[in-house]
Amino acid sequence: MTMDDRMIVCLGCQAVNRVPQGRVLTLAKCGRCSELLATPHPVEITSEQMRLLEKKDTGAFIVDLWAPWCGPCRMMAPHYDSAAQRLQGDVRFYKINTDQHPDASIRLNIRGVPTLIAWKGGRELAKQAGAPGGAALERWVRDIFGLASTSH
Ligand SMILES: [Zn+2]
Repeated sequence: MTMDDRMIVCLGCQAVNRVPQGRVLTLAKCGRCSELLATPHPVEITSEQMRLLEKKDTGAFIVDLWAPWCGPCRMMAPHYDSAAQRLQGDVRFYKINTDQHPDASIRLNIRGVPTLIAWKGGRELAKQAGAPGGAALERWVRDIFGLASTSH
């Protein structure tokens, strides 16, 4: 194992997989259940799955804490999806419905929705209250994780 390897939790079977830094995440499969470890779209997770990611996952991921009644959340959703597609090799995009999982809001210190949290290396790197629009969202994610921009 090198320092660049990432420990990636499989949300299907909860196995922890070692994935080399250069490997595209959406092509990596779980060693135990063979499910893909990431998808090119945001994935809804539970508070329990988030706790597992916090404890055992060292890769880069974003969590969007949202609610069905929240207008800005709905407006941000297509931009969130497009960022997930464009950054699918490096970053996973998750969503937590705070109406269904109010305990996650409390544990993660969320004061309003939407709130985005960036995680890597098993710790919270950044938290953003409110919805960055359009290209600002992808730029925010790239800046936090130090990913080069594909365009100028
Ligand atoms: Zn698995």
